Amino acid sequence: MNGGDARRFEAVRAALRQQGAAVGLVTAPTSLRYLTGWSNPSKRFAGLLVPVEGEPVLLLPALEAEGARAATGVRLVTWADGEDPYARLGALLRQTGAERALAVEHETFSLVQLAQLARALAVEPGALLPGMPDLSPVISDLRECKDEAEVARLQRAADMLNPALDAALEAIRPGATEREIARVLEDAMAAAGAEGVAFETHVLFGPASALPHGATGARALEPGQVVLMDFGALYRGYRSDITRTVCCGEWPAELARVYDVVRAANEAAIAAVRPGVALGEVDRAARRVIEEAGYGQYFIHRTGHGLGLEIHEEPYVVAGNPKLLRPGHVVTIEPGVYLPGIGGVRIEDDVVVTETGCRVLTSWTKERLSVSGS
Ligand code: ZN
Ligand code: ZN
Repeated sequence: MNGGDARRFEAVRAALRQQGAAVGLVTAPTSLRYLTGWSNPSKRFAGLLVPVEGEPVLLLPALEAEGARAATGVRLVTWADGEDPYARLGALLRQTGAERALAVEHETFSLVQLAQLARALAVEPGALLPGMPDLSPVISDLRECKDEAEVARLQRAADMLNPALDAALEAIRPGATEREIARVLEDAMAAAGAEGVAFETHVLFGPASALPHGATGARALEPGQVVLMDFGALYRGYRSDITRTVCCGEWPAELARVYDVVRAANEAAIAAVRPGVALGEVDRAARRVIEEAGYGQYFIHRTGHGLGLEIHEEPYVVAGNPKLLRPGHVVTIEPGVYLPGIGGVRIEDDVVVTETGCRVLTSWTKERLSVSGS
């Protein structure tokens, strides 16, 4: 994947041709990383020019050149502190003769950047806009289907979750706080080789677990409360994402029932994942189980999201999504039921779509566990 992936550049060129653009300017950090293998460690401007004809050029800060040379085979052009990177960019664009047939990523290219680019090209910003093709969907579409090397990284990131959950089980006891358990999870992932967390770790106890995006705090655990843990590891740019819910001591009867329903929903959705199935159908498979058990009104979010260089990316496992699953898609399956004032249960796995079905990357048990109530 290093050195710039020729297949990925070819796909970008094909999309540019189709949209009548002569050159694409890629500036979103994740897109830069995906296409070149280099990730910009600073906030300084970096942009990748991909001409339809000719070699891609990466314009980057001079102080990053050494790191970039080790990470990518793409041709580098540097700008120094004190220089205007947009002046360099304008010059490069004029060399290609393509300054008016430029595609950018509409999702992330800002109005400030547009103004700076226009100034460098000595035109009005409004002159650049009409018909300016959008590269965002092109790169997002490419990134959706992971190749073997990407799946290997996602699998490594998922494997690091097992020792973390094992360590959390040891630490869960009455009086432990949410922050303590979160730290145990994060330390164990780091010890397993994680480069960081995939996103902010969520550990929620008891009634707080009924808030799907509640904040991990100083709450102390009491017997009979559930412990909802939603966290992930970062490995060579790729992310894992898991949720497990256990109980401190005996499960209260209703939450035990809810657990079994959510587990059945998780498994029904995973069983529905295979090429050619609409993402909305996978959501339906999970939702049907929860609705039939009478908890439909408490399943208040989509079933899952794509996972890769970003924690939430295309495709989304959401009601009504007609997009069809393809081999290489990686999505989370994370149904949940949240009973206000009582507690919530969510069970989340990461799955990769194969040629014939799917493979689950996360492997920690989904048994309904009671952990040291005394
Ligand atoms: Zn999650
Ligand atoms: Zn998730």
